[in-house]
Amino acid sequence: MNPERILLHNAELVLPDRLAEGGVLVEAGRIQSVLVNPRAWPEADRIIDLEGDYLAPGFIDLHIHGASGVDLMTAGPEAVSTLGRFLLRSGTTRFLPTAVPDSDAAYLQVISAIEEAMRQPSEKRSAAAIVGIHFEGPFLSPGCHGALDPARFRTFRTATDLQPFLAGPIRQAGGVAMMTLAPELEGGLDLITELRGNGIIAAIGHSQAPFEICDAALARGARHVTHYPNGLAPLHHRESGVAVWALLQDQVTIDVIADGIHVDRRMLSLIHKIKSAEKMGLISDAIPACGLPDGTYQVWGEPISVCDRRTSNASGRLAGSVITVLDAVSNLAHWGFPLVDIFRMSSQVPASVLGVGDELGSISEGKRADLIGLDHDLRVRLAAVDGWIERFV
Ligand SMILES: [Zn+2]
Repeated sequence: MNPERILLHNAELVLPDRLAEGGVLVEAGRIQSVLVNPRAWPEADRIIDLEGDYLAPGFIDLHIHGASGVDLMTAGPEAVSTLGRFLLRSGTTRFLPTAVPDSDAAYLQVISAIEEAMRQPSEKRSAAAIVGIHFEGPFLSPGCHGALDPARFRTFRTATDLQPFLAGPIRQAGGVAMMTLAPELEGGLDLITELRGNGIIAAIGHSQAPFEICDAALARGARHVTHYPNGLAPLHHRESGVAVWALLQDQVTIDVIADGIHVDRRMLSLIHKIKSAEKMGLISDAIPACGLPDGTYQVWGEPISVCDRRTSNASGRLAGSVITVLDAVSNLAHWGFPLVDIFRMSSQVPASVLGVGDELGSISEGKRADLIGLDHDLRVRLAAVDGWIERFV
């Protein structure tokens, strides 16, 4: 946390419910006051003139496998920090490194690298901070594996099947953990109970669960759906399964990959119309090729090619994205979504999914000073994590 008293002024504030001219006073790494059209600016140790740029909450990416050549399945703590620096430049101030199904040994390696990266003090990082870890699997439906390796999928029989994911004390490092699972698997509902009992967020994904099983999963504490509607049994007018359920249940939040490839933009409009910006979050689902040119990259043990921003593995399936959350935000702005709604999706919704909505996710007094300054073409000019400010030209 930065002990300085910093005034960011002359900004167009992106507040939870509106845009407003003003600034914020940051003190001890938190938003001390939100100043809308003030008559005078308060004193500060440091004053930054935003020159009319947007000042918005930092993006929180719930789902990212890597970028800039860094693969989180094999990265050491230094490479994890490299990724964090890349992400900060694109306005992501917090993220959940996301692990794909693999062996126990691979999971342990990922967990320990992430824990070590989390322990680095933020003033030395100049990087997006890690909120925790997201396990995408391995308790997933083989019928909806997407680009994940179904040979690595597991079923849940007893609580000991969860041990590899509890082995690393991510939460002692101050983080949260989240797991995406298919509730229709044998033991799937008990898995949710076990996750919740261990304080882990349970999300539904890579699933073809019928409606009733989804309701049972909700009763056990699963109230989020991962990269809707990718990796789910599709919407069907006679068979209402997980895709209908996620839209219909008001308590359920979803996240989407708004790269214009994983989901048609008109489908995104439909989802937005039904769920509203309160229940719809943006993720990147980026793979290590994000931030690199088109080409073929070795990811998760197989070649993945990237052509015109579309990823595909050897069998021609989409294999994650090459966007950042900033790209998703720009896409939605370009497609005419309201800016206030877009920033709710990129910050507030993910914070609430993680249960840290009182600390992060909006420009509100008392919250941590995770802030980004963007010009009106949505280029990131400034980013702050806990009040530590980085400026970009
Ligand atoms: Zn993924």
